[in-house]
Amino acid sequence: MKAAIYNSPGDYMTGEVQDPHCPTKGLLIKVLACGLCGSDLRTLQSGHHRVKPPFVIGHEISGEVIERGADCAGDWKVGDKIAISPVVYCNRCVFCRDGIYELCTDHKEIGQAWPGGFAEYIAADKELLLNGSIQMIPGGVDPVHATVAEPLSSCLNAQEKVNIKMGEMVVVIGAGPVGTLHMVLAQKKGAYPVVVADIDPFRLEYNNAYRPDHVINASEDELVEKVFEISDGKGAEVVIAANSVPDTLVQAVKMTKKGGRVVIFGGLPADQACPPVNMNIVHYNALQLTGTTIFAPRHHRMALKLVASDKGLAEQVISHVLPLTAFAEGVDLALAGKARKVVFVP
Ligand SMILES: [Zn+2]
Ligand SMILES: [Zn+2]
Repeated sequence: MKAAIYNSPGDYMTGEVQDPHCPTKGLLIKVLACGLCGSDLRTLQSGHHRVKPPFVIGHEISGEVIERGADCAGDWKVGDKIAISPVVYCNRCVFCRDGIYELCTDHKEIGQAWPGGFAEYIAADKELLLNGSIQMIPGGVDPVHATVAEPLSSCLNAQEKVNIKMGEMVVVIGAGPVGTLHMVLAQKKGAYPVVVADIDPFRLEYNNAYRPDHVINASEDELVEKVFEISDGKGAEVVIAANSVPDTLVQAVKMTKKGGRVVIFGGLPADQACPPVNMNIVHYNALQLTGTTIFAPRHHRMALKLVASDKGLAEQVISHVLPLTAFAEGVDLALAGKARKVVFVP
């Protein structure tokens, strides 16, 4: 079958790999669409400790069941259109046992432990069916749009923790796909004003259903000053750092209103993970710093409902839909900052 093969850091191409077999206790799935994630870009450029090349990555997957194993777990049928979350929970750790799946200490991921979705087919084995999150794509939802459910699930988990309220000012630092999803979710919660900051003017152009109330080009304006200007000197109730630039956390703490919340959504490069955040500001301004990562199946279900209820949401984020044969071109567009979300269709 056709697949995008990651050979080594910087070396990836569309090629041929062996077709997967349908597992006796699982499913064979035809990939309908797979989104390109920021973490995929990092793996393709610099490698990933859990990805052993040559390998097929890709984890924002929509597919259709085309074969059911003889002893398949669950009641999936041939023809079911499904959204596949990459996260496969251990179901043994104390957090899984307490139902707090987003804190699972031993989860595995599709695109790392199993071959991913930048291919024509994937096999879903028993472990994936029982411990992962596979959901029906709601009727009428374009499988391309359904790929957004995966990054949206992470954003929902983060926003659940900070519980944005109507009329609160929210600043999102980073206008990439996840920053844009955070912006849309904050608007749906009734936040006002919603401010998006980035250093890339292309990313700050919003021409679809949703627009931030203010955009800040942080390469031209001093970000913290600008936020204080917009908030009449008070700062923002909620600041979401949706990027991997350490200094934005220093800024986030400075621009948060007394009693406000900061979400640390993006991981930092390992050798830059200790930014000089002024902890006295956190202390005296009584701030809450919240880190989040991955999500639970409940977020995945909620994300699919949101995508179904509002077509504009996926359209806001997806800028390019390309055939898998144009994998390298799509990756280059994303690396050059000329695309928001690229989705590949085999
Ligand atoms: Zn992703
Ligand atoms: Zn677990």
